[in-house]
Amino acid sequence: MAVYLHADSSKCSGCKACLVACSLAKFGVNNPKKARLAIIPKFPAPGIFEVKTCTNCGTCAEVCPVDAVKINEKGAYYIDPNECIACMACVKECPEQVIFTHPDYPVPFECDLCGACVEVCGPGVLWIE
Ligand code: SF4
Ligand code: SF4
Repeated sequence: MAVYLHADSSKCSGCKACLVACSLAKFGVNNPKKARLAIIPKFPAPGIFEVKTCTNCGTCAEVCPVDAVKINEKGAYYIDPNECIACMACVKECPEQVIFTHPDYPVPFECDLCGACVEVCGPGVLWIE
């Protein structure tokens, strides 16, 4: 069974600390728009958030035409920027919509199970197993 980043959305307060931690860990900037997980507010319900994470389903690796999606030592899929041709097939096909893009970065990016988000989440929404 795949190891992946689990989320219990019922505990999420929507504080976005995980998104900040992710962008800091992976890009060295405080910018939730560069995070590799997503917090979706469920308006109009107040205080309800859905946390979207990579479930390691492997679809991104299957659809990549140049085999740029690889598996790291933790068992997580990641995009090798040296091989990616930015065709966006993986972005389109990810069932969880957790492959992200940003104008500052030429290729898409996804969670590689670094765990930075887990460490900062006060309510214990996130865990890796
Ligand atoms: S990024 Fe999306 S398609 Fe790739 S393994 Fe994770 S959930 Fe599946
Ligand atoms: S955007 Fe890059 S990683 Fe994604 S499918 Fe295309 S070549 Fe592969």
